[in-house]
Amino acid sequence: MKVINLMESVVEMVLEKQIDFLQMNCTCDQCKNDVLALALNALPTRYVSTMRGHTIQRAKLMDEQTLADVLREISKAAVIVSAKPSHD
Ligand SMILES: [Zn+2]
Repeated sequence: MKVINLMESVVEMVLEKQIDFLQMNCTCDQCKNDVLALALNALPTRYVSTMRGHTIQRAKLMDEQTLADVLREISKAAVIVSAKPSHD
C-alpha cells in the first residue's frame, strides 16, 4: 500500500479516450508523456492511499467538474506539445 496521486490515473484515462480528438501532430509516447506532465502540473493533486487496482475504479468515479478541468488542461497541453514537440 502506498500513496498515489489519483489525478495521474484520471489524466491518463482522459488522454487515452480523447487522443483522437486532440488533433496532435504527433502521438508518440514522448509527446503523450509531455502532455500528461504539462496537464498534471496545472491540475491539483489528489493523493489517495489505495492499491493500484482500486485506483482505476475511483478515477472513473471522478466528478464531472474535475473531468471538465482535466480535459481543458489536456487540450491546452496538446496544443503546446503539438506546436513544439520535445523531439525532432
Ligand atoms: Zn512525438
